[in-house]
Amino acid sequence: MAKKEFKAESKRLLELMINSIYTHKEIFLREIISNASDAIDKLAYVALTDDKVGMNRSDFKIVVVPDKENRTLTVSDNGIGMTKEELENNLGTIAQSGSFQFKKDLSDEDKTKSDTDVIGQFGVGFYSAFMVSDKITVISKAYGSDKAYKWESEGADGYTITECEKDSVGTDVIMHIKPDTEEEDYCEYLEEYGLEHLIKKYSDYIRYPIRMEVTKSRQKEKPADAPEDYKPEWEEYKEWETVNSMIPVWQKNKNEVTEQEYNDFYKQKFGDFEDPLCSISIAAEGVVSYKALLFIPAKAPYDYYTRDFEKGLQLYSSGVLIMDKCSDLLPEYFRFVRGVVDTPDVSLNISREMLQHDRQLKTISANIEKKIKARLVKMQAEEPEKYEKFWNAFGRQIKYGAAADYGLHKEQLLDLMMFNSSKEGKLTSFEQYVERMPEDQEYIYYAAGENENQLAKLPQTERILDKGYEIFWCTDDVDEFVMQFVGEYKGKKTKSVNDDDALPESDEEKKQAEQKAADNKEVLDFVKETLGNRIKEARVSRILKSHACCLTADGGVSIEMEKYMRKQGGELADFEGEHVLELNADSSAFAAMKNAMSTDKELAAKYAKILYDQALLIAGLPLEDPSEYSDLVCSLIK
Ligand code: ADP
Repeated sequence: MAKKEFKAESKRLLELMINSIYTHKEIFLREIISNASDAIDKLAYVALTDDKVGMNRSDFKIVVVPDKENRTLTVSDNGIGMTKEELENNLGTIAQSGSFQFKKDLSDEDKTKSDTDVIGQFGVGFYSAFMVSDKITVISKAYGSDKAYKWESEGADGYTITECEKDSVGTDVIMHIKPDTEEEDYCEYLEEYGLEHLIKKYSDYIRYPIRMEVTKSRQKEKPADAPEDYKPEWEEYKEWETVNSMIPVWQKNKNEVTEQEYNDFYKQKFGDFEDPLCSISIAAEGVVSYKALLFIPAKAPYDYYTRDFEKGLQLYSSGVLIMDKCSDLLPEYFRFVRGVVDTPDVSLNISREMLQHDRQLKTISANIEKKIKARLVKMQAEEPEKYEKFWNAFGRQIKYGAAADYGLHKEQLLDLMMFNSSKEGKLTSFEQYVERMPEDQEYIYYAAGENENQLAKLPQTERILDKGYEIFWCTDDVDEFVMQFVGEYKGKKTKSVNDDDALPESDEEKKQAEQKAADNKEVLDFVKETLGNRIKEARVSRILKSHACCLTADGGVSIEMEKYMRKQGGELADFEGEHVLELNADSSAFAAMKNAMSTDKELAAKYAKILYDQALLIAGLPLEDPSEYSDLVCSLIK
């Protein structure tokens, strides 16, 4: 019978397992049991709607059998089983596994360094059994199939699949335990006591009984003709026992579970290699009763901001897994939350489509949303460093959430938002900002652009900073939209530093400005005429102080937003804003242009073009014709 090769990536991982020097090889059992439990989950779900399964919930179990003589450890389940194709696809490849994806993202150097990390942090599923076995036999019969198959492999050089006999649906994983070496007593994985200990340690919460035949001792019955000085005799006997408590962590009282246990549960269940930032455990009773255990991850998964990412919480109804990712339980802006919800109040037979309209579920999700928000607010107040981590990972999500649906959810999210500010150079909330606003400051200022250093030097920001006012640096492309949708916080309006009226003017100042504009009307008309429809208008600036020129936009779409829209491509790529060239009437450049208008019109036109190009440069927009700009400047260097 021909051996089949493993897929290249699987082979690499397998080799890693076989030669592993990892010190916690014992986690293989947790992985194999967890697969068995998943397989039972699947059949239990089918059984809800399909009488042909013919199983009750109490019939499901996982059986662990050590056999010292043959040096095998067998884990059997009566779950959904695998067809021939599934054996081939699931055990011959590992491409889907999150751990492998993670390894792919590492540099080569990191790869060797982190081998043990990968095993320790994730466990790597089925293959981890090769850390303790030199051969693995899997015998499986899939639900709905009348044939059973045997998959067998002695490691990296391949596997075989053959038809075989098996009475009932389910899977047996038979691990042929490696011979003991000087460093390693593999025989401990054949000892009842050791196995019991491992099951309790790692798999206690598995919701199906993990059965094992354990040796016990009891007093022999006293013989009828026992002498007077009869001493009781003991005998050993075997008895099947359920080793695990079967109480899932989320069903336990918060004070019975350590943080470490929550973290381990999280990492194993959701395939993360880092502890979560925090856990939220909820036990609600009332109109709807449910238990929930939620986690806020420390990092966004690699696919978080892509279409591939699926949000949702695991939904259990009285211990039966109904749905792996129930998206209705989480609002879009909290989609990073992972966790489990278990409620007896959702009908077991409910179809997945019906779930969407389920009133109970709506109540739960509203409730969960409040708890998540409250936990985040608490973290923000009490653990600022942790919150910063959170914000770095998911701040964008919160901001998108606030801008989505035209700011429909902003009230919910306002308090969670933070931006870097000019004052302290660190993340600052609206509340903190407003609290330290000087009395005479009317607005919450923000400046949008690529980076803080550039922004701080912009002509528009200069005048605000000179006043001693704080500015939020909006360096994320969604930030400016957010500021606009926020509109106001505690009665203080948000204001772009680019706005003409960003600094309130006295009547006297207004008058002066108008006068200045009127005095220079001729120059402004000339500039507009020279530049044509490249600009909507040339204006005497009210915002410039030391710089000669800048570009602003009329019509509600700022220059930053325009850049953002262009980046989005499609129809938006051609978006053209209404640009206004602002000129500083007190600058020497302005004076030179004004002067040239009467002596050398051609030179004046050159000046106008150069000023416009410079305004484009400061705004971070591309020059329409860089070589023309260069020629212009060079023509003046004489
Ligand atoms: P993971 O469990 O992370 O998907 P594994 O390598 O542990 O990765 O398992 C690969 C796949 O093999 C599983 O997703 C499952 O489809 C299948 N599988 C493993 N063990 C069993 C089992 N006991 N019964 C049915 N299917 C199984």
